[in-house]
Amino acid sequence: MTQADAAAALSVWVALESPTNHPAGVNGMMDLVASEVAGLPIAVERIAGRDGLGDMVLLRAGRENGQPGVALMSHLDTVHPVGTSDKDLPVRVEGDRLYGPGVYDMKGGAWLALQAFKAVAKAGTAKRPMAFLFTPDEEIGSPTSRGLIEEIGRGSAAVLVTEPARAGGRIVTARKGVGRFDVRLEGRPAHAGSRHADGRSAIREAAHQILAVEAMTDYARGITTSVALMGGGTAANVIPQHAWFSVDCRVTTLADGTMMENRILSLKAHDPDVAIRVTGGMNRPPYEKSPAVAALFEQARGVAAKVGFDLQDCPMTGGGSDGNFTAALGVPTLDGLGIDGDGAHTLQEYGLISSIAPRQGLIKGLLETI
Ligand SMILES: [Zn+2]
Repeated sequence: MTQADAAAALSVWVALESPTNHPAGVNGMMDLVASEVAGLPIAVERIAGRDGLGDMVLLRAGRENGQPGVALMSHLDTVHPVGTSDKDLPVRVEGDRLYGPGVYDMKGGAWLALQAFKAVAKAGTAKRPMAFLFTPDEEIGSPTSRGLIEEIGRGSAAVLVTEPARAGGRIVTARKGVGRFDVRLEGRPAHAGSRHADGRSAIREAAHQILAVEAMTDYARGITTSVALMGGGTAANVIPQHAWFSVDCRVTTLADGTMMENRILSLKAHDPDVAIRVTGGMNRPPYEKSPAVAALFEQARGVAAKVGFDLQDCPMTGGGSDGNFTAALGVPTLDGLGIDGDGAHTLQEYGLISSIAPRQGLIKGLLETI
């Protein structure tokens, strides 16, 4: 396939808009996957969506030798609302760049990995059983797909995730863990003029708590906490009864995740007359570059060298992905194997067409050698 043919075929995927909350679009993407593999020695299982989200598609092929398999994982949902390609981010080629909603994160990676998977299935050159899971909800934390991701991960010798490459084509071998919390405060309302002393301000308490949570940030240890949403009160002359805020927490180790979860969940009110309720927890565990991950990366470097390029990885990144789930189970996981480019989640999102063929070659080589 020429570069132009690859760009044209990928453009069809990008043009089909599939934000997470639009199951019809996501299911359309699943249809495209199923139709691509029709007639090939690939088993297709479709798992119906739930909770208002799209379906999943699980492909299986390769050698049935009773060994643990190698699993590819791609999400087909995007963050871009329907209509983005009509107006703000038209699907188009400019030089080596293919622009469009989700082309970089991560339809480019899903598409090129599927081409590699098809080629290996057709040629019968896999060393192990192969699975390829397409999911509908990564952009909101994978609430309906996490179970299957972990189940497939447990049965695999390695997991390959096609999230976008980092600048210069670097892949990802470590990601921070991500926690989300919701803090609700309830004080005692009172007239701000005539009964001030009777009031117990939930917002005043929230101010104390927000500073305490933000002070938990420890850059040296790779721990960050952010309060990025807050609210409360009813009127300018009422001591507020209610206040709330969100907490985003990032950690580099499982132990720090547990420690931070305990600290945040056990926040105590300053004012004994204000009730505090904290919910949430760590959503994505950290993905650490274990010796097994490092060994798999070295293997990938060897494959890339045969394809003709020098593969590098990048320092632990702050963003989470489905790779966090499988890596936390101790399954060697490589991520960032998708298309190179830039502008994820923005209206300048593009993939580099020239990165498709080498990265397809890398994934094909991994499927044939792991
Ligand atoms: Zn993504």
